[in-house]
Amino acid sequence: MEVDCAGCAGCCIDWRPLLDVAGRAQVEHERHGPREPLDETYNLVPLERDEVRSFLESGLADALTPRLWKAADDAEGVVIDGREVAAVAGRPAFFVGLRKPPKPVAPFDLETATWLPTCVFLDPTTLQCRIHDDDRYPAECGEYPAHNLALEQETECERVEGAFGGERLLDDDPGETDGLLLGQQAIGGKVFVHPRPDDLEGVVERAVRGELTTEDRAEFVAVAAASSPGTLAISEPHYEDAKTRALEADSWAGRAIDEWNRLEGENPDATLADRIEDARGAPGTPGWDALEGGSSETTRGRDGSL
Ligand code: SF4
Ligand code: SF4
Repeated sequence: MEVDCAGCAGCCIDWRPLLDVAGRAQVEHERHGPREPLDETYNLVPLERDEVRSFLESGLADALTPRLWKAADDAEGVVIDGREVAAVAGRPAFFVGLRKPPKPVAPFDLETATWLPTCVFLDPTTLQCRIHDDDRYPAECGEYPAHNLALEQETECERVEGAFGGERLLDDDPGETDGLLLGQQAIGGKVFVHPRPDDLEGVVERAVRGELTTEDRAEFVAVAAASSPGTLAISEPHYEDAKTRALEADSWAGRAIDEWNRLEGENPDATLADRIEDARGAPGTPGWDALEGGSSETTRGRDGSL
């Protein structure tokens, strides 16, 4: 599996605003299929249960956010805030993923930076992942775009090629892939269910509006962390402990998200990312020259490591 990720980050950024209306319709892939997300986030990275726990235990729960879906039909949904929300056995189903605040980024060799929804862990200057060499690097990111190829789905690399030219997907053999959690086996492992739908009154509407609160996000993180693969049940003691930790989270990532939201639209200078993220303790990134040794642009994975 070979991809050229240098200067791309197409799978870490919502780059649809860079396209005209027709082009945008072509990359609305997440709004197709039987279940449409309630939120507008593009390319949300779904985390596995143990990854959610790992972020939680290291104080980074404030970098996480849930995703719920519209029900495909009345039979599978539960009504909350007047909306049919996809559910399993009457319990609303959700992912936990990484938040995407607005950051000024210039992907695809663009000369000027544009404020685009960007993964909390993407260094907006180098367009590299800050947690690539970290235990918390999500399996979903490590397996991208191999999962898409294994499922015979178009990849973000090809969408970027179609819109901006160049060659990103250099080899379309997915090879061996891990972590393809699909169907029933995903319950409690990657797809979680909330045991108390009534508690989500008001939350669903805020998810649709992109206005989830710290408390809302902490609730989903806690339920996911207290889940067990293959079951709909959660452990109440684990839930209580996880909820407390999630509400206490005050990481560089959460504080940077608040600041990016506050500054969105301002004219960025070259040091802005350093001041917002690095100065708050974000892990650094090496830059492309360091990875490529000056001789090759061949890269692998969302962050483009060799
Ligand atoms: S590779 Fe890193 S920056 Fe990109 S989506 Fe994954 S965690 Fe975020
Ligand atoms: S895997 Fe690499 S080439 Fe493909 S969209 Fe992501 S950053 Fe771009």
